[in-house]
Amino acid sequence: MNVAHILGSKGHEVVSVQPHRTLGEATRTLAERRIGAVVVTGADGGLLGILSERDIIKALGTGGGEALAQPVSRAMTAKVVTCRLETSIDELMEIMTSGRFRHVPVMEGGRVAGIVSIGDIVKHRVAEIEAESKAMRDYIAMA
Ligand code: AMP
Repeated sequence: MNVAHILGSKGHEVVSVQPHRTLGEATRTLAERRIGAVVVTGADGGLLGILSERDIIKALGTGGGEALAQPVSRAMTAKVVTCRLETSIDELMEIMTSGRFRHVPVMEGGRVAGIVSIGDIVKHRVAEIEAESKAMRDYIAMA
């Protein structure tokens, strides 16, 4: 199983913000879309960073409510770890665990082609385990 399987069921939509937008605007986007991170892209659509709810909490924790007026570029992580459609789920779990983050953008041909969250992986793993368990029960019932 690889990243392409996950995007095949969840879709390729990626919610993005531009770096000059404020943290307040990004927070509203996260709340409205019920997501935990947005990718930060330039006018040409190129990947510039990633901003997660954790970055916003950190900015609020140090700067108070005024931090919401700061530009996204100040709080985002610019060195983004990405994966490809061919990346295996096991490899992706290792990337998230060792990097201590829960979101990984998927790159294809230099463009962001999707994003996988730890929630997507858990959902996928649970479905896989349930299918295996059902196959096992069906097999036992046949015997
Ligand atoms: P998260 O666990 O995804 O909410 O993110 C925790 C921290 O890691 C935040 O500072 C994010 O900006 C950063 N982060 C999230 N995803 C990535 C990624 N794919 N590559 C690098 N940093 C990331």
